[in-house]
Amino acid sequence: MRQKIVAGNWKMNTLVCEGVELVNGIVSKMGEVPSDVRLIVCPPFTHIVSVGDALKGSRVSLGAQNCANQPKGAFTGEVSAAMLKSCCCEYVILGHSERREYYGETSETLNAKMALALENGLKPIYCVGEKLEEREAGKHFEIVKAQIEEVLFNLTPEQMAQVVVAYEPVWAIGTGKTATSAQAQEIHAFIRATLASKFGELAEEISILYGGSCKPSNAPELFSQKDIDGGLIGGAALKADDFIGIAKSY
Ligand code: PEP
Repeated sequence: MRQKIVAGNWKMNTLVCEGVELVNGIVSKMGEVPSDVRLIVCPPFTHIVSVGDALKGSRVSLGAQNCANQPKGAFTGEVSAAMLKSCCCEYVILGHSERREYYGETSETLNAKMALALENGLKPIYCVGEKLEEREAGKHFEIVKAQIEEVLFNLTPEQMAQVVVAYEPVWAIGTGKTATSAQAQEIHAFIRATLASKFGELAEEISILYGGSCKPSNAPELFSQKDIDGGLIGGAALKADDFIGIAKSY
């Protein structure tokens, strides 16, 4: 059975006190979430210790939104995978389209981050997805395949087993436009087949999340698809009721 996951990417939102209030709200409603669904919150770095404290004893896991591509040293402003682990982070989002687009993250950078995250016992949530013009040109399969091959194909099966994949069409992120469940299922099945071409049966065990304007109203239809194992949620992760509403959608 693949793990069902709903992960919240808070991006650069909330102050520390607001983040703690948000997770307190999420934790207080966890009784409504089926016990086989894993919830993960990924706040900004500055919130990780306080949010982690608020999550202690709950079923909600802690993640970060990024980590450095170097282990330690003179890299002003960076936060290492080891530092995140020392703050009790379990997960780290890698390759989000905003990092690829605004901070120039390439497969080379992501290979280094992936290796460091895994060495430090973090579970990477690896994001892939095409831009609008790429989908319109019919190139979405090619783009997603390259994003998978250039990074995930460098992992051992043991490492791959630790990874969660998130398919996030860039044209659906924060735009209110969602992929139809058929569009999402088609590419999720393609991602699983691509993983199977390298890792065989292990591909059946990998959770593949959908991300892009997911909300309580569209999550049930998306999550009912065979190869969609949950969601990576942006905007709707900033309201406890919406985040919990999505997690109740299975
Ligand atoms: C995201 O950026 O990971 C995301 C899915 O954002 P939103 O839900 O706001 O589209």
